[in-house]
Amino acid sequence: MIVMKFGGTSVEDSAAIRRLIEIVDSELPRRPIVFVSACAGVTNQLLKIADFSATGKKDQANDLIAAIRSRHEKLVDELIGAELPKNYLKGKISVYAHELKNLSQAISVLGEVTGRSRDTIASYGERLSSMIIAQAMEESSMKSMFVDAREFMITDDNYSNAVPLFDIVEEKSKKLLLPLVRDGYVVVTQGFIGSSENGITTTIGRGGSDYSASIVGSLLDAEEIQIWTDVDGVLTADPSIVKGARRIKKMSFNEASELAYFGARVLHPKTILPAIDKSIPVYVRNSRNPSYNGTLITKGDGNKECVAKSIAYKERITLLNIESSRMFLAPNFLEAVFSVFSKYQTIAHAVATSEVSVTIAIEDTTHLEELKRDISEFAEVSESAGKAIVCIVGENIRYSPGVVGRIFSALKEVRVNMISQGASEINVGFVVDEKDIGQTVQMLHEELFADAGSQGSFHEIFD
Ligand code: ASP
Repeated sequence: MIVMKFGGTSVEDSAAIRRLIEIVDSELPRRPIVFVSACAGVTNQLLKIADFSATGKKDQANDLIAAIRSRHEKLVDELIGAELPKNYLKGKISVYAHELKNLSQAISVLGEVTGRSRDTIASYGERLSSMIIAQAMEESSMKSMFVDAREFMITDDNYSNAVPLFDIVEEKSKKLLLPLVRDGYVVVTQGFIGSSENGITTTIGRGGSDYSASIVGSLLDAEEIQIWTDVDGVLTADPSIVKGARRIKKMSFNEASELAYFGARVLHPKTILPAIDKSIPVYVRNSRNPSYNGTLITKGDGNKECVAKSIAYKERITLLNIESSRMFLAPNFLEAVFSVFSKYQTIAHAVATSEVSVTIAIEDTTHLEELKRDISEFAEVSESAGKAIVCIVGENIRYSPGVVGRIFSALKEVRVNMISQGASEINVGFVVDEKDIGQTVQMLHEELFADAGSQGSFHEIFD
């Protein structure tokens, strides 16, 4: 059995859905379970409906509901020929539109949107796309079965960022999905959405469909997890910055997690985690170019000649410089600093320390003022915004003497604010001014990938 996940752009219109059906058809002997996202842009529209309703902008909310309704009706018209299923789907769309209107109305009366109603509203995108796709598969004579993910993706009730309860998800998905797979059905279900133990709709975080697919793939011991998106795979750098960015054919789980975390947009940071547990290979592939193999993410990586795999970056970083001569060599200095970060639930993306100072890179500045206030009770603290973390990832960085020298001599012209090498030694990260990202990434790419052609020992790794 394999798990296939199709993202928003891979289900954005009837042409994309037809391509999806062809792709699934070509994998029928491997018994796919298919996870789908909402059509591209719909989740954003749904969340706007919630916000408009809470701020009294009823007309705007209603316009969006009408737009979502007509987009899905058009999909039904274009994909479904038979009268009965067509009427059934249109009826369902109309019911969903009414439910959305009622929710919107209730929110506008209260004047605020709770996490619970926000998640319920957000769930309609996946619920609409999946039911239409399952029916379109039937039309093309594929033996398919629609399953609502809320029946097996059981989560806690931390709305918008709900955490799946793995034991229950395992038990339910084994009971519900495996018999269908055994009977030869293509299961079609939704990513992103789930349900609390009390049956209330939840969502597991923006972009979470990848995560849903990889959780179920891992719990059901899938042979492979395929993430279908709109690019040819993971690249050596952002192609909008580096013209000669190359596709990476193969990378390790560790490399992929570091990259996803440091901003490679093609993968959700959590996607790889469940696959690592069971060493299930993950493919990132392009639904607009299915003949291309994409990127394989798997255990280990044998090619010792290739130092770096990719350069990623994260913008909108703020540095906090914390200094304390008073706490010079005090063993509890770092503890004091990090307990403030913990109090305000702020993640430190990179840290560099000396005996008397520590610099911490953060992305989330929601509690910046409180952080500064609490830290200033025992140290001097200053901030500098407008920064970016650039991160070079590669399993072989740790085995390659001189690589750090190559990196920094390539960056002679750039002002580097802070340097950190991850404990795993497979990444070297540093902070630069946001305005220098383009130059930094280009120069590094030239230095590290100039000879990464598709010949010789590199052909296994890069295209
Ligand atoms: N539709 C959801 C989102 O846009 C989940 C996903 O596509 O992965 O965040």
